[in-house]
Amino acid sequence: MSSSATHRGAAVVEVTDLHKSFGSNHVLRGLDATIRQGEVVCVIGPSGSGKSTFLRCINLLEQPTSGSIKVGGEEVTDPDCDIDAIRRNMGMVFQQFNLFPHLSVLDNCTVAQTTVLKRGKEEAETKARDNLEKVGLSDKADAYPAQLSGGQQQRVAIARALSMDPKLMLFDEPTSALDPELVGDVLSVMRRLATEGMTMFVVTHEMAFAREVADRVIFMDGGSIVEEGVPSQVIGSPTEERTRVFLQRVL
Ligand code: ADP
Ligand code: MG
Repeated sequence: MSSSATHRGAAVVEVTDLHKSFGSNHVLRGLDATIRQGEVVCVIGPSGSGKSTFLRCINLLEQPTSGSIKVGGEEVTDPDCDIDAIRRNMGMVFQQFNLFPHLSVLDNCTVAQTTVLKRGKEEAETKARDNLEKVGLSDKADAYPAQLSGGQQQRVAIARALSMDPKLMLFDEPTSALDPELVGDVLSVMRRLATEGMTMFVVTHEMAFAREVADRVIFMDGGSIVEEGVPSQVIGSPTEERTRVFLQRVL
């Protein structure tokens, strides 16, 4: 398990003994994890090991079967918890970009600001343009998603999420659907976010990214956390046989 030396700030997310079953399929088998302020935690592991389910439980896109998930100290599974308020603090970026096809890039980045956060149009547009600049797409504000490459669409999705001023960014294989030559631009944006101190929870197959950017790597297999620690340990010299076998396949 990870050493406290890698921990930065206060706990943003605390997961305790998280279980999730789909019918008789026991997918998450007692996960414990903490994500601290300013930390980049990468989750790696084979397909079907429960990585997406884990991430989706954190913002209650999936309802946990049992266990505790605290976000900012609040128990999200508590029926009295205002999950919408908690979700507003989490940006989520998926493998598929899920942009609104009928809205311009700028409008994609303002619509939730004006409807959910009740920001004025001008403030929302300023925020959106700042974030489009950050992801290198200032010149695409008036374009429509279909006119953009996959990598550009994914960077818009990141700008859209950032425009909500999230405290935590969740990424589920954000580069897996991209042509190889488009992956680098998206990873650069994520790397920059990390250096700016964003708290990030990233499911990824990009081992070089995890190795360079993650403060901590979690290796999952069969619905359990098999190994966890700094990247140089988990990716560089794993102690568990299952981690070694996985890394041999992907590296
Ligand atoms: P990973 O992201 O590591 O590839 P997933 O979390 O997507 O793994 O899936 C883990 C297991 O949970 C798989 O067996 C998958 O079929 C199952 N699963 C995921 N989501 C659902 C769902 N909504 N309904 C039923 N089974 C699901
Ligand atoms: Mg997945």
